[in-house]
Amino acid sequence: MGLLDGKVAIVTGAGGGLGEAYAKLFAAEGASVVVNDLGGSRDGSGNGTSAAAQKVVDEIIAAGGKAVANGDDVSTMAGGENIAKTALDNYGQIDILVCNAGILRDKTFANTTEADWDLVVKVHLKGTYCCTMPVWKWMKDNGKPGAIVMTSSTSGLYGNFGQSNYGAAKAGIYGFMRVLSIEGRKYGIRVMGLAPGAFTRMTSDLPGRQGKEPDAMSLPENIAPGVLYMVSDLAADHTGKVLGVSSRGVREIKMLQTDGFNPGKPYTAQDVADHAKEVFFPAAEEKTAASA
Ligand code: NAD
Repeated sequence: MGLLDGKVAIVTGAGGGLGEAYAKLFAAEGASVVVNDLGGSRDGSGNGTSAAAQKVVDEIIAAGGKAVANGDDVSTMAGGENIAKTALDNYGQIDILVCNAGILRDKTFANTTEADWDLVVKVHLKGTYCCTMPVWKWMKDNGKPGAIVMTSSTSGLYGNFGQSNYGAAKAGIYGFMRVLSIEGRKYGIRVMGLAPGAFTRMTSDLPGRQGKEPDAMSLPENIAPGVLYMVSDLAADHTGKVLGVSSRGVREIKMLQTDGFNPGKPYTAQDVADHAKEVFFPAAEEKTAASA
């Protein structure tokens, strides 16, 4: 008995890295998986192929699982529709979508070109939209409950140096997830956010990581169980929440507000300054990405 027996899952950007690990674990847990990837470079340049997706599919099938490859670009509506169609043509239903595909073009803000901004936002934020819309409509129109995981990042939720385009896209995904989770309640569609941390080609050259062997808990296969939990019925009671899943385990990340300063009558800027202790969190209580 697998946790995903009889379910159909789409994982975008699953030709390598985290997506590959999710696809393989979902298949091992009984799901039929659409492995999407256009096989591009880390910065999204060049023409990709579906060879990376096909390799993962071949490995899933060799291990006794069910999977089919798709090489569409997640960031176009036609691509998103074809990814959903691949699932429906091959397996007749869609239960799970993990929007995972992504690229990086890290630069300090002043050096970020319009093209760097547009492509990163397009692949992450619009890509999440393009893949979610056809799946959403199918689930809603057919009265099928489902689980959608959208990949955000601590870089968007907390901020990170040199990632203005990426952080903006990932924070946008957070807002998208929150809204859709509210709309999804009446259809039984759960929408969750994910802030992963793993050693992949995307992160292998981060400061402090160059030339280092990844620690075992940072490997994508040790992150995937947290994501399997999110898409499985084990998490049936949870929607609209972000889980951080990394070598430090699994934890919820939440937007918080202080009790604030509320005088109940017109106030001045100086009044706000005088009540800064009520307005802001004490610095020691702030958990940042590094400590999350
Ligand atoms: P990765 O580069 O190994 O994998 C990303 C995959 O997406 C690649 O296989 C790539 O070919 C594919 N892809 C890129 N653009 C695509 C497109 N337009 N259409 C289809 N496929 C496309 O990176 P990863 O570390 O496995 O990242 C997976 C996701 O997790 C990304 O959304 C990333 O932003 C996010 N993330 C990763 C980390 C981390 O620590 N690795 C941290 C925070 C967020």
